[in-house]
Amino acid sequence: MNPQETRQHLRELASNLQWTWNHRDRALLDRLAPPAAGEHPLTVVDRLSDDDLAALADDEVLLADLAEAVTALRSRVSGPPTPDVAYFSPEFGISETLPQYSGGLGILAGDHLKAASDLGLRLAGVGLFYRHGFFRQEIVDGSQGERVETHHAERLGAIDTGLMVEVPMPDRTVVARVWRFEVGRVSLLALDCDVGANAEADRAITDRLYSGDRQHRLEQELVLGVGGARAVAALGWVPGVNHLNEGHAGFLLLELIDREISAGATTIAEALDRVRSRVLFTTHTPVPAGIDRFDRDLIEPYLQLWADRWGVDIDEVLALGRDPDAGLAVFNMAALCLAAASRANGVSRLHGEVSRELFASVPGGSTITSITNGVHARTWVSPRLQNLFDEMLGPRWDDGEATTWSRVGDLDAVEVRAQRRDTQRGLIDLVGARCGTEIDPDSLIIGFARRFATYKRADLLLRHPERLAAILADTDRPVHFVFAGKAHPADVPGKALLAAIVAHGSTPEANGRFTFLPDYDMAVARAMYHGCDVWLNTPVRPHEASGTSGEKAALNGALNCSILDGWWAEMSDGRNGFDIALHDPKVGFADLDDAERDLGESANALDRIIEMAAEFHADGVGNVSAAWVERMLHAWSTLGPRVTAGRMVGDYERLLYRPMLDAR
Ligand SMILES: *Cc1c(COP(=O)(O)O)cnc(C)c1O
Repeated sequence: MNPQETRQHLRELASNLQWTWNHRDRALLDRLAPPAAGEHPLTVVDRLSDDDLAALADDEVLLADLAEAVTALRSRVSGPPTPDVAYFSPEFGISETLPQYSGGLGILAGDHLKAASDLGLRLAGVGLFYRHGFFRQEIVDGSQGERVETHHAERLGAIDTGLMVEVPMPDRTVVARVWRFEVGRVSLLALDCDVGANAEADRAITDRLYSGDRQHRLEQELVLGVGGARAVAALGWVPGVNHLNEGHAGFLLLELIDREISAGATTIAEALDRVRSRVLFTTHTPVPAGIDRFDRDLIEPYLQLWADRWGVDIDEVLALGRDPDAGLAVFNMAALCLAAASRANGVSRLHGEVSRELFASVPGGSTITSITNGVHARTWVSPRLQNLFDEMLGPRWDDGEATTWSRVGDLDAVEVRAQRRDTQRGLIDLVGARCGTEIDPDSLIIGFARRFATYKRADLLLRHPERLAAILADTDRPVHFVFAGKAHPADVPGKALLAAIVAHGSTPEANGRFTFLPDYDMAVARAMYHGCDVWLNTPVRPHEASGTSGEKAALNGALNCSILDGWWAEMSDGRNGFDIALHDPKVGFADLDDAERDLGESANALDRIIEMAAEFHADGVGNVSAAWVERMLHAWSTLGPRVTAGRMVGDYERLLYRPMLDAR
């Protein structure tokens, strides 16, 4: 192979995001030159000089592996079919090198695409390309500081489709370039307003994820929904399912209704009836405050354009998003999506129940079903453990195949302990490098990493400081806490929570065993799932619609210690982890005094931690106890078949996509 061919092969392998979950491809790319943290392999490849490539010519093993990997990739992705399902989401978390996500919603969307690729579903993602992505976090004087980076789509493997779509705005038309990323066999379209044809202010519409004022947000969502629908059509795709991952892409419906009116529908209601069979809505929030709403004053000029086109009064268009409380004074995106979708679902069983109650007065609200979130196993499980599972269970453990997981009891306890030692090293090294803290590898490592939203109560354990101090001082049963997560830049209480955790880490009571690990992203998250023994989850029930971080930790062998909320409420069996007792076991939004509830649940969580430390260290410090290993095996066998994105996307296909496609 000549150097140019080698370069071509390397670029091909680095451009398709399959390397984010194919750890052999990833290792092959890393052999060229270890990337700096967060660096896309394509950037590394493009930095190689012709001399570097000529030097590779002698490495026959590497070139043979490369040729094999490229052949395998080509055979998988050959002839991408036109998609039946267009999956719309404001964020996609596919890799830390493509920072187009803020939290769980985006990671879920990325995992959905990957599992769809694994299963060979005819699905494509539709989103935005944010030049500045989401912010990076630095701790400055004990508080969160925010740093902004700039990203170039083409350097991250994006293909320019050559398409530009138009999105009508008051007094002007905005255009968006359509990039296409390859995610295994699946395409992800990403719309980008940073093009020369737009006025300076409009080029900034897709600048950052979840920042700016309501108008900025509204314009982003118009580009996502209307522009996204137009991009799909311009590619010649006619999806039988438009899947809305949360309400942010709901303006897609304006475009779908518009087409029906052009095709002869005489009223908005008639047009809606014609589009309904093609629309699926997944809601992700159990609280009214989490729903996207726009004041009439803001949105009216944008919707007036559509009212004029359709020859109807503005109130008829506003009525599409009639708010259950504020009527036409507020445009409610969830109401729009529910009224226009033939099917809708929540993301855990409990969240389904809560959503039916929350949306009871909205048309379509009472028919909400649920499909519980799952996680993409090969993205999140350590390569070391993947190899062990492949060997011992067979290759189908990753899609949740039940008989495969039933073999987990055959795993050797010695091997289970050895892999833990091994994968824990990455976390201990990362914490050492970033925080200058040495974690005792014999301690029970308890992790907590997620957005610092107040309902997640990162500070719950601090409510009984003297009891927490006793746990941290115990030399017979050492415990180490690792926290990570970002607060939204505008979330003042969330930032205060974060500062409280950082501050606690340097008190004498923390005993050097309470660490905040900064700059949370998918790479930090992976290191934590691979290295923690326990995954702590302390939301106010029922605010955590599903949660997914505990599922990722569970696949890696960590035991969940959690409030019975979201996915855990339906999957805990009392032995596959540790439940934190609720102060008031009523389902729903209890009227209980918040402080009293938090004090009670804090005490319950601390009780559990003492119990866990005793069980973990029962056979002496330095030996993960037999009882603990047994619990790990039981957790794998009960959760493995249920928490994967393979199971989740399979459920979407069977229960929602297929019936919708068959009804066409
Ligand atoms: C899984 C994941 C989340 C979601 O975690 P939750 O516990 O569901 O809030 C957020 N961010 C990253 C980087 C993740 O990997």
